[in-house]
Amino acid sequence: MNTYYLECISCGSIFNGVVFKCPRCGGLPVFRYLTRKFEICVKKPGIWRYSSHLPPVRDVVSRGEGLTPISKLGGVLAKNEKFNPTGTYSDRASSVIASYFLTNRVSRVATYFEEDFTHSLAYYLSGISELEVLVREVLSLNVAELGAILNMGGSLTTVPNENITKYLDYVNPLTVEGLKTIAFEIVEKKIKVERIVVPVRSGVLAYSVYKGVRELVDAGVGIPYEVVAAMVKGESVPYITKLIKGIKFIEVGEEDVLESIVKLDRKGIKTKPISALAYAVAENLGKAVVVMTMGFKTTSYYGQRNANVRGEVYRIVKEAGEVTAYGVWKKAPVYTLRGIYKLLHSMERRGEVCSEVMYEGSRKVKYYRLCK
Ligand SMILES: [Zn+2]
Repeated sequence: MNTYYLECISCGSIFNGVVFKCPRCGGLPVFRYLTRKFEICVKKPGIWRYSSHLPPVRDVVSRGEGLTPISKLGGVLAKNEKFNPTGTYSDRASSVIASYFLTNRVSRVATYFEEDFTHSLAYYLSGISELEVLVREVLSLNVAELGAILNMGGSLTTVPNENITKYLDYVNPLTVEGLKTIAFEIVEKKIKVERIVVPVRSGVLAYSVYKGVRELVDAGVGIPYEVVAAMVKGESVPYITKLIKGIKFIEVGEEDVLESIVKLDRKGIKTKPISALAYAVAENLGKAVVVMTMGFKTTSYYGQRNANVRGEVYRIVKEAGEVTAYGVWKKAPVYTLRGIYKLLHSMERRGEVCSEVMYEGSRKVKYYRLCK
């Protein structure tokens, strides 16, 4: 018996199996679960701790996505999605897509190049499905991302392979299921704010976070956070979010985004304009957690590699549950032990990890873990 069905958010058509696009109107079908009971299974990896409200799959592909830290940034809280394996929230979507493809033995996938998402997908599908990336505009390619995609076995073409008639679009029901786990994590931590602010872009992130919040409220365990989509003046509201009355749109001017970029830069934070945009809106409103990706500038001897070390150390702590600095170093011995100590210390200051001192005999030992 099916535990879910799909419903088109545009025309309301119902489907018993998974469809990626509504055959009647071209709209987005989304998952509806028959169970309302929300369960958290902490033993399952990554976002799959929320399996009761994710598409049922036999084979789970998790590569350390999710459980990203929430730390104070000026007057608001920031959920830093940089701590996902490829550095963006797309990894949450890719985990659900890869699990679905592995379960259904999909051996070949074609997709149009989309910044962040394609890179993430290549990482998750590596060893599972062959990925053919179709490029619309060669000049818009991000060369660093492209290199990463090719390294992971993706192939590249400007002309669609004639045997391929179906393309995986970033906006699809599995992406929504992955991205909504951002809301689940905020609810699980019972973050005391009134709203969640996200950049609007294609609208799929705002819609997904809104869906996550609603599902938990319906299950009786949620907090009815307001979902705010931040946009630049003059940007048009994407069709997905237009359909949802519960999402609030707030516009700011381009000069506000620039100001926000400069402000964050002064705090030593490197971020993309869309994150700076969401931050500007969150700061104006207050009582908010903002979903963003931010890296930290550093003058330490790690130099450019620091961002990667930080992500790696975070994943080691997450996987271990609790671990000493020495334990972290043993798993990542390419760095110096002193460097690991310093890094954990700075991560603790930023609220990215927490620690607890325990006694082993008469010896004090400091254990690091993710913050509760
Ligand atoms: Zn439809």
